Amino acid sequence: MNAYVKPFAWSYSRLKNYESCPKRHWHVDINKDVKEEQGEALLWGNEVHKRLADRIGKGTPLAAGTEKFEKWVQKVSAGQGNPGVQVLVEQQLAIDANFAPTAWFESEARRAGKGLPWYRGIGDVLKIVGPVALIVDWKTGKVLEDSQQLALMASCVFAHYPEVLKVRSLFVWLKDDCETKEDYHRNDMPAMWKHLWPRIEALKHAHENTLYPPKAGALCRRYCPVAACPHYGSSNW
Ligand code: SF4
Repeated sequence: MNAYVKPFAWSYSRLKNYESCPKRHWHVDINKDVKEEQGEALLWGNEVHKRLADRIGKGTPLAAGTEKFEKWVQKVSAGQGNPGVQVLVEQQLAIDANFAPTAWFESEARRAGKGLPWYRGIGDVLKIVGPVALIVDWKTGKVLEDSQQLALMASCVFAHYPEVLKVRSLFVWLKDDCETKEDYHRNDMPAMWKHLWPRIEALKHAHENTLYPPKAGALCRRYCPVAACPHYGSSNW
C-alpha cells in the first residue's frame, strides 16, 4: 500500500522559511521532529494578538501593557456595529489551487466537496464595507517591508468575498507605532500570482521530491534548533 502523501499546501511564512533554509524548514515546519524554542518575543506576540482579538471581537478592555494599542483598535474597527459594516477577527482564509475559496482544513474541504486548501492566510482583523475591505495584520517585531504578504491576504479576501472589489491590506507595527499599507484591486491579482509563481514552484518541487538541503546562513549560529545539521552553531558562511 502506498503511503499517503499530503497534498501540496503552503503559507507565506512557510515559503519564507523554505527560502531561508530548506533543511530547517523541513525539520521545524514539516516533519516537526525538531521544536523551535518559543522565545519571549514570540510569546509576547501571541499574547498581544489574543488581547487585540478579544478587544475587537468581544469588547474586552486591553490589559496593562497593551492599553497604548487602543488607538489602533479605534482606527481599524471604526464603524463597527453600524449597519453594513462587518468587523471580524482572526479570520482563517484558505483558497484552493484554482484560487477559489475553500475550508481551512483538508478534511472539511473534502466533506464539503470543495477544492483542497492550497494557500492559507490569517487576517487578524477583517472589515468589510460593501465593495471595500480592510485587512489587518498586527506585527510585534521590527518593521520589515514585504508587500507580498499583503497582496496574498488581499487575494484570499477577494476569493471569499465576491462582492469586494478593493482591499486595503495593512501591517500595524505595534512596537514602532506605525503602519505599512497597500491597496489592491481585484484586477491586480493575476499579475501578483504571475510574479510570485516561480517561488511557489520551487516550494512545490521541494515538496514533491522531498528535497530540503541545508542552506548555511545567518540562522545557523543562534537561530536554528536543528542540532544534527553540520552547520549548526556555525558562523562560517
Ligand atoms: S544549521 Fe543552518 S544550514 Fe543547518 S538547518 Fe539550521 S539554518 Fe539550515
